[in-house]
Order: sequence, then C-alpha cells, then structure tokens
Amino acid sequence: MNEKRRIIFPYQLHKADWHVHPDYSLDASGTVNQYCQKALELDLKEICFTTHYDSDPFRKDEDPYIKIEGEIVPLSEENVKRYIADVRRASEEFNLRGLSVKVGLEVDYAPHIEEQLRFDLASLDLDYILGAVHCLDHIAISASNEAERYFKKKSMEETVEAYYEVLKQAVESKLFDAMAHLDIYKKYGLGFYGEDILTLHRGLVEPVLELMVINDIGMEINTGVLRKGHTEFCPSVEILNVALEMGVRVAVFGSDAHKIEHLGKGIQEAYHVAESLKREIEMKRKTVIR
Ligand SMILES: [Zn+2]
Ligand SMILES: [Zn+2]
Repeated sequence: MNEKRRIIFPYQLHKADWHVHPDYSLDASGTVNQYCQKALELDLKEICFTTHYDSDPFRKDEDPYIKIEGEIVPLSEENVKRYIADVRRASEEFNLRGLSVKVGLEVDYAPHIEEQLRFDLASLDLDYILGAVHCLDHIAISASNEAERYFKKKSMEETVEAYYEVLKQAVESKLFDAMAHLDIYKKYGLGFYGEDILTLHRGLVEPVLELMVINDIGMEINTGVLRKGHTEFCPSVEILNVALEMGVRVAVFGSDAHKIEHLGKGIQEAYHVAESLKREIEMKRKTVIR
C-alpha cells in the first residue's frame, strides 16, 4: 500500500497534528473547517484527519457508521468518499492560507476483517492510513464504557499478550502507513490492573517493532492519553526508546483530537522528549565506536 500512495510524512513533525477526528467520527465534534481554522491559529503547518474506520461486523450495533452533517449513516464506500471530498475541498481552501491538509483514516484492525479491509481501502483515495488495534474479542479496550468488560475476564498478562499478538498481525498485513498508540491498553488498563501493566510489554513489543522496521511502517506518538490523566504519551518513553534504538521511524505526532480544543495538545512536548532520546542514542553509539 505504501508504494502505491507514496506517502509523504510531515517535514516539520512538531508543527503537524496527524491524528484528528472531525465530526465524521461518531465520538467527535468540530467540523473539518473549524479544525483547519484552529490549526492556523495554533501555527500548525499541517493537519491530517483520521476519521475512524471501524468495520467489524461483529460490532454492528456500535461501529460500522460514520456521521455526515450530524446524521449517523453506514460506513459505506459512498459515505466515506463524501468525507474524503470534504477534506479535499478544505485542503484547496486552506493550502492558500499556508496550511497543508491531508485526508486519512484510522482503521481498526482485527485479523478476521483483514481481507475485507484490503478490498475496501483499495478503492479510497487517501493520503494516510493509520492502523490501530482497539478491540480484543470484539470488545473495545480503548473505550471507557467497554474496557472493563474485557479486563474482568482476563488477567493483565493475557490482555497485554493478546493485544501484541493482534498488533503484530496488523503490522504483518502491510495495510498501514503507521501504527497508532502502540500501548493503548494502558489507557484504561492502568486504572483497572495497576502499575505493573506498564512493564508487561517487555519481550512482547520488540517483535512488533522489528516487523515495523522490516516493513517500513512508521510509529505514531499519540498524546491523547495525557488527557486521561496519564503522565506519559503512547507509546511510553521506555517503548519509544527501544523503538528508536531498533530503528523504528517516528513518522508522526498526533493529539487524537476528538474536540477542537484538543488539537495540537502535547505535541511540542512529546516532540522534545523524542528528540532528546534520539540525541542520547546517537551519543551512546558514538561512544561505542570510539
Ligand atoms: Zn485509536
Ligand atoms: Zn483516534
């Protein structure tokens, strides 16, 4: 997929928000135009919309919908194309005012829908496809009203293992340009299971990161969990450090905005953390060579 679309990631990472949900997502507010206007006010150079593409038929009561002008309609090719056209129109308007506007989707991955996704995504003219694992056993562990239902029937180890197994398959599918919020299970898992969950990625995340390098799939740094009281973004500094050492590319930063006021939040800070980690790794390498 990457080759076909020839994705161009932002040059000024700290001035770009590449994870933004306008009001096409069921759980978001703010029109495409309102977000673009806000981006200009914040002096962002680029914004990429990533409306949810949640298509699991087992979740037909919750997911496979998109909102158009306030009306909830099926997540059909035709309706997704209306979203894309709206962003393209905004892109023409706001490019003239110094803002680059991209259109993407945040695609929820599950192994049983992989082939359907491959088929669906091929017909869409997108700048960016962000892959995400939100659901395990068809339950959204990233949603406040569902996460506990999953956690209650699994140990913390089982949850984290199951998550990385699906994430690995998502990376192997090569459907995506970048992977979203790598350790998203901590969003509600930390409150439910406690702090030990923050170390359980060890030994599980590395094979995923290795596949990201091999398949040239970027990593997103997602600052959205900071709004949920977390002190670290997704992925954690520890995972980010391992990823950088292994050669994973930090492709984009994203606020995961679901409201206008979320736009750009935490991106500068996260950028500086990532840059200083990169410098430390670089210095360590030089010391080793000497
Ligand atoms: Zn997400
Ligand atoms: Zn999102």
